[in-house]
Amino acid sequence: MQHATHAFTGIPSFARAPFTLPHTVEADAAVLGVPYDEGSGFRPGTRFGPRAIRESSLRYAFFGLGPGKRGYWDLDLGRRRLTQLRLVDCGDVDIVALDLEGNFQRITDAVATVTSQGATPIVLGGDHSITFPAVRGLQHGGPLSLVHIDAHLDYRDDVGGIRLGHGCAIRRIAELPFVQEIVSLGIRGLRADEDDLEAARARGNRVIPAAAIRRAGVAAALAEVPGSERIYVTLDIDALDPGVAPGTGTPDPGGLSYLEIRDLLQGIARKGRVVGFDLVEVNPWLDPTGITPLTAAQLIVELLASVFDP
Ligand code: MN
Ligand code: MN
Repeated sequence: MQHATHAFTGIPSFARAPFTLPHTVEADAAVLGVPYDEGSGFRPGTRFGPRAIRESSLRYAFFGLGPGKRGYWDLDLGRRRLTQLRLVDCGDVDIVALDLEGNFQRITDAVATVTSQGATPIVLGGDHSITFPAVRGLQHGGPLSLVHIDAHLDYRDDVGGIRLGHGCAIRRIAELPFVQEIVSLGIRGLRADEDDLEAARARGNRVIPAAAIRRAGVAAALAEVPGSERIYVTLDIDALDPGVAPGTGTPDPGGLSYLEIRDLLQGIARKGRVVGFDLVEVNPWLDPTGITPLTAAQLIVELLASVFDP
């Protein structure tokens, strides 16, 4: 077993979690990388997201079997968190260039397999189009609600006739028969489309713009999130302000702060059982500073704490 003292040594699994194949998972949560960016409509490169997030996560190497302490000290709560979490890293879903149907099927199968082993899938994107096949992997187990944190609504019906790009992801999920409530938080920008907004609201989706969260606060936004037996959380890194997370394909100014997103995740985890999570749209090639994948890795640890050690 590896004993890696520093972040620049050893094999970079997420936060040093042990590597396991999906069908042999025995854990509370399992990390799955999806290095896919063929759904991007603007600047590609999120296929390098999972590897960059794992690399950055070695700053938070809380789950290895080395000599360090497990979990982390929470300065707010005054206690150590996640000391008991069983986390594994299943590596990446195999992505084959231009094999859209095959790629999506493998994403669905990987999420379904991890879930059938009793673990919560923690999916690293990839562009946002991967959320549709990921959610599809949770079709067994009853109704599901979706909490979507993003600068963008991603509710286009099609772009140039193509219905599976990252701008259509939430629309496709909304059509899945087992998906009930959908809440989109952090929406902003000058490219929001009134027809998409109308279609979302006509379905009953709640849309909470970034400016409303800033004005009324996170607690008021959380009051709009319904309770649910099963919640899937999808976090597009561009929900954060691009000053904090510049490494993403479609940045929009006026985004949420790190603490606002963290508090949202904490509050969402109190609304019910989070049965799946993804973090998408990290593009390390657009961020030579590395702050974007680092922020992503830290947010994933905070999400794990909110869900498994509240
Ligand atoms: Mn998105
Ligand atoms: Mn977005």
